[in-house]
Amino acid sequence: MDLGIKGRRALVCASSKGLGRACAAALAAEGVHVTMTARGAEVLANAAADIRKANPGVTVTEVAGDITTPAGREAALKACPDPDILINNAGGPPPGDFRNWTRDDWIKAIDANMLTPIELIKATVDGMMARKFGRIVNITSAAVKSPIEILGLSNGARAGLTGFVAGIARKTVINNVTINGLLPGPFNTDRLRGTAKAEAEKRGLTAEQIMVERAKLNPAGRFGDPDEFGEACAFLCSAKAGFITGQNILLDGGAFPGTL
Ligand code: NAP
Repeated sequence: MDLGIKGRRALVCASSKGLGRACAAALAAEGVHVTMTARGAEVLANAAADIRKANPGVTVTEVAGDITTPAGREAALKACPDPDILINNAGGPPPGDFRNWTRDDWIKAIDANMLTPIELIKATVDGMMARKFGRIVNITSAAVKSPIEILGLSNGARAGLTGFVAGIARKTVINNVTINGLLPGPFNTDRLRGTAKAEAEKRGLTAEQIMVERAKLNPAGRFGDPDEFGEACAFLCSAKAGFITGQNILLDGGAFPGTL
């Protein structure tokens, strides 16, 4: 299927690795010019070079910086001032016990996973509406639908973003600008492998054993492949998906047991 977005411009935040990178790659494969960001310049440059090589017809621009800071957002928007597609993403907050979290811990989580996407939406949505095309995808988490106790900082900040978006997504669609959340369950990325390593150390097992154990817990019997996430994201960003807005779409292999 031709997704109808060849020649569009996308700002894909936090995209040197994992889900963000997969979104950038899937969009580039559709002929979208992509601007990628991450803090680590070297990994970002390598990821951008790979995507450039695989898609010689598109422009791939990389901007190193922390997207959760005003300077990081300014640099990203300078490189891609009027995106047609915005993929909001950043690292997730650390797990822990809410009794130990300070106000600063909360502000950091809210800054990264709620206020940063809101700032980027604010900076880009009016231009999209004026041009009568825009696709905004917020990468959040399956924890938005089924919170995980130790991820309280993530549950709280992402629920705030989800509530905010639910209101505005019904106002932008009149101008063909959609805003949706993509909610990853367990995807095989560095982040997931990192948490497996930490659990393995605690339990005296290997990270590989933990990965096998966790994969078996999913109805699909496996983790998601980041490419599957990227392709779903590209579809949501497509010209075909203009009637989907304000939705929170789970990609979790069926792990959430609800009907709706
Ligand atoms: P990942 O493999 O660790 O990749 C994270 C990417 O984001 C890297 O490119 C990283 O590069 C970049 N990044 C992190 N913080 C950043 C910042 N402040 N500014 C700019 N770039 C930043 O993680 P992932 O698994 O793709 O996860 C992406 C998001 O989905 C996270 O919020 C995570 O909590 C959420 N999520 C993931 C899963 C899963 O199973 N993978 C499940 C639920 C939710 P630098 O470190 O160089 O900046």
